[in-house]
Amino acid sequence: MPLIATMKKPQGTPSRSRFSALQHHPRSWTYKVYLLPTPHQRHVRISAWRQLVQDMGVSESLLRVVPTVPDWVPAQDAADAAAEVVSAMCPGAGELVACRYAEVTFIDQGVNFEAVGCPVCAAPLDSDWWQERMDDAYATRFATLDAVTPCCSATVSLNDLEYYWPAAFARFELQVRDPGRGWLSPDEAAQVSTVLGITVRQVFSHY
Ligand SMILES: [Zn+2]
Repeated sequence: MPLIATMKKPQGTPSRSRFSALQHHPRSWTYKVYLLPTPHQRHVRISAWRQLVQDMGVSESLLRVVPTVPDWVPAQDAADAAAEVVSAMCPGAGELVACRYAEVTFIDQGVNFEAVGCPVCAAPLDSDWWQERMDDAYATRFATLDAVTPCCSATVSLNDLEYYWPAAFARFELQVRDPGRGWLSPDEAAQVSTVLGITVRQVFSHY
């Protein structure tokens, strides 16, 4: 789906490769991301990735600001205004892209994925259980995100599980590549929420 707002810093060295991949292969990207490997495989993958980073200096950090309601998309003017606000908050960023997806998409945290917990009783959730629920949800193209937790039998949205680091589901995101800073402060996030017209949450991804 279309890029709806793009702002680049002129002195940056923008690379659109990742977003281009999302644009042209959104479904394969989603599928690839939600099928997380087992913890052992993930450890191997992360180790391999760190080696690659060490060898080649290749890595990417993304600060991603998304609506708290997964299928919500802003009007063009609200998206543009929110992009302006976030851009001003990230003066050292490499690139900011506003992305609107055809379907609800898992906004993953990349190698920052460590654990998933129950939002009701705080029990850790087994990664196999979570992957099966993600498979079920993906069968609906993430239109249905409800799951019943094995720990306390609560009906919860996959969007509301306790992801560490945070993750989300969204059809819209403001994606800041190499943001040059950490999380938006609560005040900054509230400003973005006001401009966008909906409460936002943040995902910090590292690849
Ligand atoms: Zn629970």
